[in-house]
Amino acid sequence: MGHAMEWLGLHFITELSESGQVILNCMHDPFLVLLAYLVACAGSFATLDMAERVAHAENPSSQRLWRWVGAGCLAGGIWAMHFIGMLAFKVPVDVHFQLPVTLLSLLIALLTSWLVMYTLSRPALSFWRCLKASVWIGMGISTMHYVGMGAMKSQAMVYYQPVLFALSILVAIGASLAALLLARHLRNGTGMFHQLLKYSASLVLGAGIISMHFTGMAAFNLALPSGTPLPQPGEHNHLQLGVTVAIMTLLIIGSCISAALADKKLQIKDHDLQRVNSLLSQLDQARVSLQQVAHYDALTSLINRRGFNQIFAEKLIEKTHEGGMLAVLFLDIDHFKRINDSLGHDAGDELLKVLASHIKASVRSHEDVVARFGGDEFCILIDLHDRDEARQMAQRIMQKMKDPIELAGRRMVMTTSIGISVFPEDGKTCEELLKNADLALYQSKGSGRNGLNFFSANLKARATLELQLEEELRHALREDAGLMLYYQPIYNLKTGQVSKLEALIRWQHPIHGFLAPDRFIPIAEANGLITELDKWVLRKACEDLGELSRQGRESLKIAVNCSPLTLVREELPSEIEQALRSAGVAPQRLELEVTEHALMGKIADTLVLLQQIRALGVSLSIDDFGTGYSSLAYLKRLPLNTLKIDRSFIVDIPRSAQDMEIVQAIIVMAHTLHLEVVTEGVETFEQYQLLEHHGCDYVQGYLLSRPIPLAGLRPVLDEINQRRHTFSVTPLSLVHGTTALM
Ligand code: C2E
Ligand code: MG
Ligand code: MG
Repeated sequence: MGHAMEWLGLHFITELSESGQVILNCMHDPFLVLLAYLVACAGSFATLDMAERVAHAENPSSQRLWRWVGAGCLAGGIWAMHFIGMLAFKVPVDVHFQLPVTLLSLLIALLTSWLVMYTLSRPALSFWRCLKASVWIGMGISTMHYVGMGAMKSQAMVYYQPVLFALSILVAIGASLAALLLARHLRNGTGMFHQLLKYSASLVLGAGIISMHFTGMAAFNLALPSGTPLPQPGEHNHLQLGVTVAIMTLLIIGSCISAALADKKLQIKDHDLQRVNSLLSQLDQARVSLQQVAHYDALTSLINRRGFNQIFAEKLIEKTHEGGMLAVLFLDIDHFKRINDSLGHDAGDELLKVLASHIKASVRSHEDVVARFGGDEFCILIDLHDRDEARQMAQRIMQKMKDPIELAGRRMVMTTSIGISVFPEDGKTCEELLKNADLALYQSKGSGRNGLNFFSANLKARATLELQLEEELRHALREDAGLMLYYQPIYNLKTGQVSKLEALIRWQHPIHGFLAPDRFIPIAEANGLITELDKWVLRKACEDLGELSRQGRESLKIAVNCSPLTLVREELPSEIEQALRSAGVAPQRLELEVTEHALMGKIADTLVLLQQIRALGVSLSIDDFGTGYSSLAYLKRLPLNTLKIDRSFIVDIPRSAQDMEIVQAIIVMAHTLHLEVVTEGVETFEQYQLLEHHGCDYVQGYLLSRPIPLAGLRPVLDEINQRRHTFSVTPLSLVHGTTALM
């Protein structure tokens, strides 16, 4: 101990009594003391501030930086305080300072301050840790102080009072502990109060530091041997130097604090930016998941039209730049609507799921894109090298689709129609390719379904033609130009007279010539023109009924065809009534032909409509019977008068015995339901005879007459009505002894 003290140049007052020396009377300059205190406070404040910075720093490097800045400020504060404190010390002897030792004290201050900052930058700071650190720090400060004092050289000997000396070390430790605890407490927090707390803490700490200094100074005594003449102190301008050092230190600390402040602001801004960024990315995620939902078909877990379009667009760009082929396959389940109508939507949904899985099973799992476009429409996008690949895939799908499906206790076989367009030949854009695939699909459906078609320029020409026809049909309807009704006689086998005429529309087209309804009715149906067309036919037929009356054929009825699309319109009964009234004809002379398909939809609504029409007195017949799926129970509920057997059952008669049996069965069935039977498409005499034999009520067909205009009707009707004699001499009639025709 004594040795260390010796090394530090410490002599305690106890030794003084033996040497017979006198203690010099020393004073402090109060202004410089105040200045020293201010500097200590500034250093303390800077330390607290930097500790806060370190705690909030985001990366190790900036943490290190602020730790050093803090250490620098504290060291600067303490050391400058010490230095100014020394300048304030007025000694009656000449004093000078050794620079190396002074610099050493500065180094010690710096190390100690670094220890302060290091301790403060620990995340978890327990009281014990603070205490341990403050012992070290206190010792450090004391060492700095006494090393600094050691730099002071003069004639006089230096003696310390041991109690005060020890007290100064305790004060240093105590001040350090207070500093650490305060700083620990003030590391987190914001606002005015926090700031105020920081200011007061700095004042307290400054006081701690300076009291350590002055306790040390109080322990300090200078002594000269008694009798030594007091030398005159040199002319030193301590005040000026003190102020300069204080200003410089304050400036440095001040700029460090402003740097910290700027950093804090920057960090807050950075945080805001980060918050905004994370918000943006959250929004982005939300959008992506929303998009996933929006691009997804919940029923079949395939992507939907939007999802498909997006992928399609991307692929198209890729292929356009890098070359290569793409094929779009448009699928439509044949007669899907019938399943929905007859078995209900739940069964329809179930079926769609199975069909979707069939389609997925037939494509190459990863590369090919399968989408559901809604309803029973599916679309597939495939990469390919030649058209044949697309054909093979389509065939594979069609084959797979024919797997029997168990649904609602039934076993059914579904078929599919497919239309294909190929990039780049059939189009360059998504819209074009989809439209062309759709056209090809339309063609497949038109040619009997369960087939596949590639798009061709030919198809396109037809499509443009249809567009043109649509426009012209609209014009024809508006101007009442070119459309006309032809009439085909319906012959009553029981009376041997033509008792009805079927009104069949024709179109005398300015360029394409005479057009049959098959050419333009589908166009009208596809474009909503059909209701206009049916209304036109109804009006015209009623007018013609009036004309027939004037010709003396009051008993002739006219049957008018009604599209399934017209049969859903509530206004239909009133329109019929209106047409009859303005032509002045009895409702009993009008018959409405509705197809089996038209009756398959919403039965309840249709039933109401049919009943209203029947209530007018107008008759109803079911057209093209046998081509749909009507059940007997179904027919029984409808207010029908007549059943028209479709021509397809007649064509092969008499060659096909089976067809004749079917026709026979239909006739019997219709009669049990109290329906009269008309057979369409009778072209041969044999057919006529067989039908007559099996009790058919009416026949209609080229055998009797083709459809003809009203003007040419009179001779034809006369001739047919005269023919009864000719028919009656046929062998069949004779065999059965039928004299009814006579
Ligand atoms: P539909 O109502 O079954 O009419 C019978 C069709 O069979 C008529 O064809 C008629 O000319 C044809 N036909 C009659 N007898 C024979 C025959 O012995 N042999 C052959 N091969 N054919 C025969 P059309 O006039 O071409 O009409 C076709 C279809 O167009 C009609 O079938 C009907 O569904 C529809 N249609 C005709 N006119 C109208 C109309 O004014 N309005 C509506 N909505 N549809 C109409
Ligand atoms: Mg008809
Ligand atoms: Mg028909």
